[in-house]
Amino acid sequence: MKDSPRNTGPYTEIRNTLLWILPILFLMLFWMSRNYVPETPDIPYSDFIALVEADNVTRVEFSGDVIRGELGNPRALGATGQNYSRFRTRIPQGGDPDLLPILRQHRVTVDVLPAEESGQGWRILLSLLPLLLLVYFVWFMSRGVFRGLSGGDPRGIGKLVSTPSRVEERPEVTFADVAGQENAKREVAELIEFLEHPERFRRMGAEVPRGILLMGPPGTGKTLMARALAGEAGVPFFSISGSAFIEVFVGVGAARVRNLFQQAKQSAPSIVFVDELDSIGRTRGTGLGGGHDEREQTLNQILAELDGFDKKESVIVLAATNRPDVLDPALLRPGRFDRHVTLDLPDRKDRLAILQLYAKKSPLHEDVDLEALASGTPGFSGAELKNLVNEAAVKAAERNAEAIQDQDLQEARDKIMLGNVRSLIIQPEERRRLAIHEAGHALVAYSLPNADPLYKVTIIPRGRALGVTHQLPEGERYTLAEDYLRDRLTIMMAGRVAERLFTGSLSSGAEGDIHEATALARAMVTRWGMDPEIGAVDLTQSEAQPFLGMEITRARLFSEHSAEAVDQAIESLVDDAESKASEILEKNLDNLEKLARALEDRESLDAGEVGEILGSGRENLVNFPPRSADGK
Ligand code: ADP
Ligand code: MG
Ligand code: ZN
Repeated sequence: MKDSPRNTGPYTEIRNTLLWILPILFLMLFWMSRNYVPETPDIPYSDFIALVEADNVTRVEFSGDVIRGELGNPRALGATGQNYSRFRTRIPQGGDPDLLPILRQHRVTVDVLPAEESGQGWRILLSLLPLLLLVYFVWFMSRGVFRGLSGGDPRGIGKLVSTPSRVEERPEVTFADVAGQENAKREVAELIEFLEHPERFRRMGAEVPRGILLMGPPGTGKTLMARALAGEAGVPFFSISGSAFIEVFVGVGAARVRNLFQQAKQSAPSIVFVDELDSIGRTRGTGLGGGHDEREQTLNQILAELDGFDKKESVIVLAATNRPDVLDPALLRPGRFDRHVTLDLPDRKDRLAILQLYAKKSPLHEDVDLEALASGTPGFSGAELKNLVNEAAVKAAERNAEAIQDQDLQEARDKIMLGNVRSLIIQPEERRRLAIHEAGHALVAYSLPNADPLYKVTIIPRGRALGVTHQLPEGERYTLAEDYLRDRLTIMMAGRVAERLFTGSLSSGAEGDIHEATALARAMVTRWGMDPEIGAVDLTQSEAQPFLGMEITRARLFSEHSAEAVDQAIESLVDDAESKASEILEKNLDNLEKLARALEDRESLDAGEVGEILGSGRENLVNFPPRSADGK
């Protein structure tokens, strides 16, 4: 690691340049300020006359309206505590007819010089300084870029291009550090043989996959897997992140790619890893707000490098993305990234493996049940599970405890799932409304047969929510059934229905519920064909763009008539859900009241506690067989 080039991006370059410029700037300023401190102080004209009259002035020079004088007694101006032998003043406009007689009377030597610009010279220089610096800076930067591009001395200041983002000699991680992901591991492991004994393959004339694309949601261990492959095979690992390519200067990214591959070839067998491929590898020519030249050039360079490999060279190119759908088809063509390895969010078994891997490093109290924790964390990625264990360890350390307890892990999970606890001062009336709202969600969630079991309901503000009713699916869900979705809509509506039943009015607190319910109903109608009238037609009109954090409206491909039908179908789905919620809650007003009071008292209730509270009035729920997380 020692002599490998360090991580030098363009920002390091700018910083280095600034480091050069700043001392020069300071020197210049220092030099100017020395000249600026007036050795000859400016004094009022009246003071000057007083000095002359006190016989303190020996000599004056006129130049234009400026008068410079020499003092006989250096302490005459001593008010400032400094000794001055000279001073400067200006004649009032229109001149002073009495001046010359007074000077003559006090025997002052008078000299007249041509009018001076009174130090304008360096002021002009000062005002030009920013411009000069800018010119200097641009020259400095461009010198670096051009030198790098033209393949000049790569050790020069213009290393902007010549350094790949990171070169890492043989990562330490191995497959043992990747928990679960057995399928992906198996596929990637096939490459080890090739990296370790390339000559065997060459002898047989075998062609080995060149480009492997790792696909999967964020945090599933794509980067980890690539590094582990290099670690297992014991080969150098050259990595660069797609986002690091987005440069100010067009052409720099492409030059970097060229450089990276060159280095990798020199140290073959080796691995080149392009992380976040989607940030450069998006379909060309569809850039929003015009094409992105830099991105396209970089992408083209990657394609050229992939094609330009000699059959003999044992360099394997891995890339990772969580958006395979947006990649340019040219990247996925045979001979390029034609092998795809998918990394999924871990299932229960893999979650347990990941939890065990990270918990190994910390002492665990015996009340910790990692199996239960693995069951209770559906949808968590490897990165989130790692984070969970770490948060729990931090909490345990804060308590100065001997070991991590179950409670630490639970709190860490809630923090990751629900957000941080926020301290807000909420008025009693609003608190009551919140409790009623959440009790509505919870009661309906508790009573509907197809809903995910209730996990927890709370009116402690967390994250952006003031209250949360949390449900946890029992197992992995890969598809969503219509019954389940309808129940989910009903639960979403239950909050505002409960508010209306108890307070007779609505509040803005249901905004999120309404938004989510509408989006869900829209998906049911336009994507999943769950409206009997409309049927199985794709009527989506927007596409989520995770990178831009917004939805991009597509051109509408269906008629006005269909659009109206969609609106109506959504409305009726949501209305149905709302009436169903009303029906349930009206039958269970007592239970709702009890639950809301308990929430006001205790702020947070888990499924078991909700069961206890509803216990006595459970007969009211017979129409909707109750279920809870513990299966009661
Ligand atoms: P990605 O590149 O897919 O977004 P990373 O490889 O950067 O995800 O993973 C982030 C972190 O999560 C890694 O540092 C690793 O510690 C942890 N992690 C993710 N998946 C696993 C796994 N299957 N086994 C062990 N650790 C994992
Ligand atoms: Mg990554
Ligand atoms: Zn709500």
